[in-house]
Amino acid sequence: MIYLDYQATTPVAPEVAQAMRPWAEEKFANPHSPSRWGAEAAAAIEVARNQVEKAIGLEGGSVAFTGSATEALNWALKGTVEKSGGDRNRIITVATEHAAVLDTCEWLAGQGIDLTILPVGKDGLLDPDDLSRELDDRVLLVAVMLVNNEIGVIQPVAEIARMARQARALMLCDAVQALGRVEIPEGPDLVAVSAHKIHGPKGIGALWMRKGSEPAPLIHGGGQERGLRSGTLSPALCVGFGAAAQLAHQRREQDHEHVEQLWVTAGSSLMTDWVINGSVTQRYHGNLNVYWPGVDAARLVADLRDIAFSLGSACASGSGRPSHVLRAIGLSDREARSCIRLGFGRYTTVEEIIDAVNRIDAAARAQQDIAA
Ligand code: PLP
Repeated sequence: MIYLDYQATTPVAPEVAQAMRPWAEEKFANPHSPSRWGAEAAAAIEVARNQVEKAIGLEGGSVAFTGSATEALNWALKGTVEKSGGDRNRIITVATEHAAVLDTCEWLAGQGIDLTILPVGKDGLLDPDDLSRELDDRVLLVAVMLVNNEIGVIQPVAEIARMARQARALMLCDAVQALGRVEIPEGPDLVAVSAHKIHGPKGIGALWMRKGSEPAPLIHGGGQERGLRSGTLSPALCVGFGAAAQLAHQRREQDHEHVEQLWVTAGSSLMTDWVINGSVTQRYHGNLNVYWPGVDAARLVADLRDIAFSLGSACASGSGRPSHVLRAIGLSDREARSCIRLGFGRYTTVEEIIDAVNRIDAAARAQQDIAA
């Protein structure tokens, strides 16, 4: 199988599996117990926390581990509203955010929060002037992702965070697709990340919180994670996340160059008739979301079963819902059904990308010939 679905998840790095193994197999102590074994597990978790914080690379805050980035985003949004106690009652976000943000915001709107969802241009980018017009002293939080999971475009997060701060609002950044790939700019107060998008294990995410901006707890119980997020941490998952973060940090130049090479190769072999969705300049190059009018993308995926690629967002696929991101950049539902997303990275070879892209292109061409 050729795996081209890196936005859905990434293969676990061998170094990560190796780092996790003792904690999965032998070292079973509860990291929150005072025994020597517990202390050893707690120390390993602190090493992992430092590794994740270093990979995030922001000053003035710290990380709490969560069960996923979805939990981190729910916590950031709901916990910030709860902490504010109603002083400010408005949240601003963007139409192309992940469901973990949009659905949580909609839920909060049902609880009385005043929600503004800003549009994006055809390039998939938020126009900062649109945000500027909306920012007022009722805004509690501005939530904007860094790298879009469906189309790979990079939002101007530094500028957005600056504007939010001027309005004395907090800024939440979903950096799930950015961690280890694109530098997270200084400015956000809350940042959500996930291990399985950076060659780590599934079932663990984290919320980076600027000191003083910690949300009220979402999960109550034993008071772990400084009383902010209860629940016994899994040393295996934390150590795996830490190892993945360290690797991503150490290999960032190498991974970046490799992705550039794959991008150029894919672009030159494929894509004479395909059009890139979203900004061509402001984007992460490990995400190639493309459109060819008239192509039946679902049939392509079904016909090429030994190539794993996506119709749009893997989070939404299977739901039958058309992609809200493709719709937000102006594509009709019919046009969105002619889009595919190829995601590649560290373990994709140049040979694989050439082979996959040629076969996808040929299958699409054959569809067009039959239709003609
Ligand atoms: N945000 C973005 C941009 C994502 O791509 C994803 C996963 O697809 C998530 C949030 C949710 O992450 P997790 O799988 O850790 O809940």
